[in-house]
Amino acid sequence: MNSRLFFEQAFLRRLPQRCRLCGGAARGIGLCADCRADLPWLPQARCPVCALPSPDGQVCGACLRQPPAWQRTRAALLYDFPVDGLIGALKYRGDLSLAPLLADCLAGNIEPGAVDALLPLPLHPARLRARGFNQAAELARPLARRLGLPLLHAAARRVRDTPPQAGLDRAARLKNLRGAFAVQQEQVRGRRIAVLDDVMTSGATLGELARTLKQAGALEVECWVIARALPPAQS
Ligand SMILES: [Zn+2]
Ligand SMILES: [Zn+2]
Repeated sequence: MNSRLFFEQAFLRRLPQRCRLCGGAARGIGLCADCRADLPWLPQARCPVCALPSPDGQVCGACLRQPPAWQRTRAALLYDFPVDGLIGALKYRGDLSLAPLLADCLAGNIEPGAVDALLPLPLHPARLRARGFNQAAELARPLARRLGLPLLHAAARRVRDTPPQAGLDRAARLKNLRGAFAVQQEQVRGRRIAVLDDVMTSGATLGELARTLKQAGALEVECWVIARALPPAQS
């Protein structure tokens, strides 16, 4: 056991297990049974490619018209209250103890052997310095451990810091992201890779990484996200 894992586990054992939402007695990782059940879980009937609700769980029209570079999206929750608050506290207040709780919500959706390796969406080094951690890497660590998956820490780098995507239309967003990532071919070639992030909104950033991974020889790419946001200004 590495020392970081040892200290994490020792720390968790010493904490009284309190629900992070209501303060009641928590079961499992950080939530009581009622608060966990009340989370905005995504409906079972959703598009397997983009994870948005779709009748009978069929591939949705948007994914049929314009198939993304990835094969499948696995997501647990809708990006809505209180999930937005939990993810915001992890990301912007640095409450890293929320990462195992959020990862646990997704873990139940994933069957053993679904992919060969897990790749957290890399942050640009300047953003990483400013934030001090990469939330995707924090989420990936407990998930990889639980699912017994190798974690690809260094297989991809964000080589270009892209301006914020909000306000750009789809075509401009895609153009804005071209060449944002560099991938180590030998780590991804012939493998089925899951790319992990906290939230999928338009999917443009995950799509660019998926495209780069496929170009580098990845066999299949899945997107794994804790929460799915409904795309803005859906038209
Ligand atoms: Zn609770
Ligand atoms: Zn879809």
